[in-house]
Amino acid sequence: MAINKEQYNALKAELNRQGVTLVAVSKTKPAADIQALYDLGQRDFGENYVQELADKQAQLPADIRWHFIGHLQSNKVKYIAPFVHLIHGVDSPGLLKEINKQAAKNNRRLPCLLQVHIAQEETKFGLDASELAELVQQVAAGTFSAADVQGLMGMASFSSDTSLVRQEFEYLKTLFDKSLITLPGFTMLSMGMSGDYALAIAAGSNLVRIGSLLFGQRTAS
Ligand SMILES: *Cc1c(COP(=O)(O)O)cnc(C)c1O
Repeated sequence: MAINKEQYNALKAELNRQGVTLVAVSKTKPAADIQALYDLGQRDFGENYVQELADKQAQLPADIRWHFIGHLQSNKVKYIAPFVHLIHGVDSPGLLKEINKQAAKNNRRLPCLLQVHIAQEETKFGLDASELAELVQQVAAGTFSAADVQGLMGMASFSSDTSLVRQEFEYLKTLFDKSLITLPGFTMLSMGMSGDYALAIAAGSNLVRIGSLLFGQRTAS
C-alpha cells in the first residue's frame, strides 16, 4: 500500500495553518511507507507496539521523532527509553514511576503525556478526573522529576455521534485547562485521529495522531 501524497500535503498545510502538530501513525505499516512520508518532510511518527517501534527505529533515519501512542506496560519502558520522543499514554502512577526511573538511567528527561479516559468504551485506557488531579499534584510536587510531563492525551468514543465526540474532547480540554493551574508548563493536548481530528482541533487540540487517512486502512492491528 502506497502513501497518499496529495492527502498528506493537504492535511499538512491545513494543520500548519492551525498551528497543530501532526503525528503520522504508522503502526502495522512497512518501513518503506514511513520512508516515503519522511521524504515528503514528515518527521513525527507514532507507533503502538514496543517491539515494532524498536525495529523500525533501528532501520529508519535517526532524526525521526518517535511517539509511543499505545498502551505501555511498565516492564517495556526500558526498550524505548533511550530514543523515544514522546510517550502519549501514561495511565497510572506506576507507569510514570517507571518512566522516571528509566529516564534517570538514560541520563535524559523523558517527555510524556497523561492519558485521560474520556470515551464511553470501557476498553480504552486512561485516568479518570480524580486520578488525574492526584497525579498532577504529585508531578507538581517533583515526585517524578526525570519524567517530563508536558500535557494530556485522550481518545474519544468511536462513534458517528458528533455531539458526543465533541463533548468528550471539550471535557478533556477543560481538564487540561484545570491542570494548567497546577502545572503552567503544560503545552500539549494530544487528541484527534483520522475520523475526528477536526472536532478535536475545534475543541483545542494542538497535536493530532493520524494513521489511516495517510497510510490507508490497516488490515490487521
Ligand atoms: C491507531 C491509533 C491512531 C490512529 O488512528 P487512525 O484512525 O488510523 O487515524 C491514533 N491514536 C491512537 C492511540 C491509535 O492507537
